[in-house]
Formats: sequence, C-alpha cells, structure tokens
Amino acid sequence: MQIVWTGADLEDCLGGVCVPTMGALHEGHLSLIRRAREEADAHAEPLPVVVTIFVNPTQFAPGEDFSRYPRTFEADCTRAEACGADVVFAPEVGEMYPNGPNAPIDPRIVIPEVARRPGLEEKSRPQFFIGVCRAVHRLFELVQPRAAVFGEKDYQQLLTISAMVREMALPVQIHSEPTVREEDGLALSSRNVYLGPAQRKRALGLSKALKAARAASTVAEAESAMRSVLLANQVEIDYAVVRDSHTLMPIQNMALPARALVAGKVGPVRLIDNMAV
Ligand code: AMP
Repeated sequence: MQIVWTGADLEDCLGGVCVPTMGALHEGHLSLIRRAREEADAHAEPLPVVVTIFVNPTQFAPGEDFSRYPRTFEADCTRAEACGADVVFAPEVGEMYPNGPNAPIDPRIVIPEVARRPGLEEKSRPQFFIGVCRAVHRLFELVQPRAAVFGEKDYQQLLTISAMVREMALPVQIHSEPTVREEDGLALSSRNVYLGPAQRKRALGLSKALKAARAASTVAEAESAMRSVLLANQVEIDYAVVRDSHTLMPIQNMALPARALVAGKVGPVRLIDNMAV
C-alpha cells in the first residue's frame, strides 16, 4: 500500500474507489473500506481503493474539537491496508485549500437543500455542511474517483453528498454502508474515545431512543418516546425527530420511508445517531 501526501502523486491511482475519512479509523470506517474493495474488484481490471485521511478544519466551528480530534495515522494505515486499501491519501491543508481554508467557497460548489433546510445538523453547526462539501468536492477533484463510499452513521451528510454529486453532475457513484455498532447498540464513532465509563453508559441513550422510535406507531409518539429515553439517560437533546428519509423534512405519517435521527450531548461530547423506522 502506498502513502501519498499530494495530488500530484496520485497520478497512477486515479479513477478508483474512494473512502473519505478524518482518520482514527474504527470498524465503521473499515466496513466502508471493505465495501470499496468489493466495488473495485467487481471491475475486469480491479480499480485502486483510495482511503483519504484529512481532519477538515472548515467543518469545525471555533471551540469545537478540531485541535484535539484523535489522530492515529500509523494505526490507520495498518488497518486500511488490512482491509484492502491500495493507497492512503493524507493531504495537508494547503493541498486541500490552495487559497487557504478561510478563502471564499468555490462558487461551483452546490450546497443542496437537504443540508440547508431540515433544521438538523446545520442548525447547531451552520458551518458544517459547507465545510464537508468543500472538502469532499476537493477530494473528488484530486482523487478523481469513479465511486465513493460513505456511512449511514452520518445520514444527513450522506444525503448531502449524494445530492451535491447529483446536482453538480459529478461523475462519481455514491455507495453507502449501514452503521456499525458495538454489541450493546452504541454506534461506533471516533469521538467515543472522549467518553468516560459513566458517560459511555449514558451515550447508549441515543440508540435506545431510536429503538423506542421504531416501536412507536405515530410520529408524535416516536418523538416523545425518544425524548423520554434521552432525558432518562441524561443526554442533553439537540434534536430527536422522525423525518422523511429522502428530504429529512417533517412528515405526518410513519408509513412513508422515514428515518429517526437524534443528536445530543453527553457531558461535553456531542453524539449523533439514526435508524430507519
Ligand atoms: P469520519 O471519519 O467521522 O468523517 O467518517 C468517515 C466516514 O465513515 C463517513 O462516511 C461516516 O459516515 C463513516 N462512519 C463513521 N462511523 C461509522 C459507523 N459506525 N458505521 C459506518 N460508517 C461510519
């Protein structure tokens, strides 16, 4: 496996299957890399699998955890290789943002409605999807992948990137993988390392709330059940909603393809999770 730092050195591995990450790789990321390997091997001439590791400053607000975000580069490379990656691409900020991260956004980049309207992640983190779209767009420009794999764990992000690709007519096929969980239901996240043992227990409130939503028969019942479970687990609620699974806009009726989504803080740690209901 090659480790590459600049776009120029990617010359021999363009047109592959890309897995964008911020590193601190866990089993959730590894499931995406394995899926990328399968997609790449489905071609007569296997395509390269390119895992990108970039802690993207533009998606963090001042005061968020950018500077202390876990960085485990060597272990990440070992894990990525074991799952079939051909290349780890770890660009510097200057490679990703040639005009600097504070320069205005490239006007070609479309920030789709699903990133601007639902009142979910973008409400408490207004910079977030603008940063994500900038980074993913630039990664696609450098890696020129034929396909890319994202996790359902970040559901609004998955819909945002799919819509950006569609609306900009970028030649990248987007694949998704289900959320990988611990045995007790906690969704794997690089941020779980911030949780102490008592907070780790309280964090289970998120997946328990989503399971409670699945058992409900109306949207109102589901949302109220989620809030009760989150409060019982001392999770400070940001949102706990059931939405249309394509637009993430409010719905009246659970019969539509619907998604329950939660976000909240356990102590200082902000966690998100979602499930189909
Ligand atoms: P991140 O490194 O947090 O930016 O995540 C990189 C990719 O891994 C995104 O597409 C995430 O949705 C995905 N991911 C993160 N956690 C999980 C998980 N528990 N299961 C599946 N995919 C995940």
